[in-house]
Amino acid sequence: MLDAPVTVLPGIGDKRAQTIKTLGLETVRDVLFSYPRDYKDFQKVIPPEQVQVDVPQLTSGQLANLTERPISRGRRLIQGQLGQQLRLTWFVYHKGRGASYLYRKLERAGRLWVYGVPKPGLFGPEMSSPEVFLRAPKYPLQPVYPLVAGVSNEQRIRWAEAALKQLHFLPECLPEEIKGSRPGRGEAIKEIHFPSNWSSYARARERLVFEEFFLFLLGLQRGKRHEQGIAHDPDGELVQRYFNSLPFALTEGQRKAIQQVAADMEAVRPMRRLIQGDVGSGKTVVAEYGAVKAAASRGQAAMMVPTEVLARQMVQRLKTSLEPLGLSVELLIGNMKGRDQERVRSALESGECDVVVGTHALITEKVNFRNLTLAIVDEQHRFGVRQRSALLGKGNADLLVMSATPIPRSLALTMYADLDTTEIRDLPAGRQPVDTRLVDPARREDVYRYVVSRVQKGEQAYVVFPLVEESEHVDLKAATQEMVDLQRGPLSEVRVGLIHGQMGKEKDEVFASFAGGEIDVLLATTVIEVGMDVPNATVMVIENAERFGLAQLHQLRGRVGRGNKPGICFLLAYNLSQNSRERLEVVRRSNDGFFIAEEDLRLRGPGDLLGVRQWGQPFFRLADLREDGEILQQAAKEVQRLLARDPALQSYPSLAGELERLAW
Ligand code: ADP
Ligand code: MG
Repeated sequence: MLDAPVTVLPGIGDKRAQTIKTLGLETVRDVLFSYPRDYKDFQKVIPPEQVQVDVPQLTSGQLANLTERPISRGRRLIQGQLGQQLRLTWFVYHKGRGASYLYRKLERAGRLWVYGVPKPGLFGPEMSSPEVFLRAPKYPLQPVYPLVAGVSNEQRIRWAEAALKQLHFLPECLPEEIKGSRPGRGEAIKEIHFPSNWSSYARARERLVFEEFFLFLLGLQRGKRHEQGIAHDPDGELVQRYFNSLPFALTEGQRKAIQQVAADMEAVRPMRRLIQGDVGSGKTVVAEYGAVKAAASRGQAAMMVPTEVLARQMVQRLKTSLEPLGLSVELLIGNMKGRDQERVRSALESGECDVVVGTHALITEKVNFRNLTLAIVDEQHRFGVRQRSALLGKGNADLLVMSATPIPRSLALTMYADLDTTEIRDLPAGRQPVDTRLVDPARREDVYRYVVSRVQKGEQAYVVFPLVEESEHVDLKAATQEMVDLQRGPLSEVRVGLIHGQMGKEKDEVFASFAGGEIDVLLATTVIEVGMDVPNATVMVIENAERFGLAQLHQLRGRVGRGNKPGICFLLAYNLSQNSRERLEVVRRSNDGFFIAEEDLRLRGPGDLLGVRQWGQPFFRLADLREDGEILQQAAKEVQRLLARDPALQSYPSLAGELERLAW
């Protein structure tokens, strides 16, 4: 019943069902779990004589002195009075001859209820365009739902009412001892839609937030720690040769990370470690170390990266550093000749290949390893938990996850609940911060003239366009048009390449030309964000910077100034609200990715910070990581206790079922 389509609800036909997909409403269950974003407080009906100014209130009385007059073409002013002194005004559009619809409705009304914010007027308080009810409102706290064009709040209330009739099909998911004195699941959902009062609302919310955290953490941590992994050998001659081959001294952070990875890999207990380090902090060295160690222990290592461009780049780096040690390094991506793929796959199966770098192609069924003992996932937030475990499942492997998106601690606890964390907080010596400037669009021409002047000195540049999602065609078209305009206009004197996520193989070619210096300026959507390394690129222009997340901007600008010349980054912002100015200022002033992440969380909330919707989306409908830290800690504690008792959730079938449904 809960999984029935929304069309079983009153007033939803096929067409409307399409419309409300954008609200995330496809099944009855979705309606239940799509909570109000706010409430109108109708608990008290204030007599008109006692209303307070500047606060929203419900008042009621007999309407007197009702008038309607035209004030301009099609526009009319309706006025009336409630009680002794409260004046009411409405503006309506009405082109016809007779009285407007609202006037006729008011005229016929006996007692009236109105909800609005009174303002001080000449003759006492006035309410402008209050909401009108002909009967006392039904709910003491009326839900206010997110809407789309063509859907009214009243409709959403009716759908919620109808969906709540199916509530008895929804099982309690929290074990009794954990639920404790909290309201039951059904009760809480009913109260979150239609609260009886604020205190029962608070109890319901607490329960549901707890549930969100609890299921999220449980899903991540279940089965985390009872497997037997393999123990890699202590560092020997091969690892020593690797260290000796490095052209630089390790930073303190790299040394510590390597120590931890060493201890993890040598232990029987499987390694599940996240290395968090700012762009350019040198995480690749840690991964290389792990790969060498795996090979030295007769194992294999696989590194999964999010894009083919990155895979190609990374395999080049690993070949350079690992092949001289006698390791065999291969690439495996979908966009490769079938014959080549087959050759690599059989080398993996025979154990001939020690290290493989690839994309999702690594986790297809056809890929088998002789002895995969280390799985490395780079830039992990692009991958789902499932993809991670698919790679792990190719062997009895240790896991090393590397992320360049620094995460605030409260978020780290949720996102990486299943991982031990190492932070690399220092950068290799001599790195210069990227000079970041917030530029008024009026000076756009100057910016591009500057780009051209740097190109004439033999340097290269990126111009980045926002694209919320690579699949958004409209956006893509707009972005490509802008790129073409640039190519024809301000950048006509230089060699320009264009690259976006929806290009196939071509993309790699364009990028290779850029890396090879045959292209001066690379116009790109955010595909260049992760991991890309072209030392000769020194200038970056970010168009519509206000549309990016801060962590993302920080990552992007990390692409320039990687060589010995200092980098410069222009943030062009066209729609600057106070808040977005404040946000961009954070990136301009600070070069500390962790600080930027904390600020981004504070200013925008967690959803955007991650730059992906996947994270937390199905889980955190109510929970707010900025405010619900305490509930999060409680949930974490309960999850730990429960898993210590029953790691496979054998005595908790409905809990296990709930996790299954959430696709953990
Ligand atoms: P990340 O993946 O963390 O963004 P990389 O591993 O790509 O960073 O390293 C960035 C650059 O810094 C690379 O060119 C790398 O060779 C160099 N590098 C790494 N560690 C050091 C170090 N300790 N000293 C100097 N340069 C380093
Ligand atoms: Mg990297």
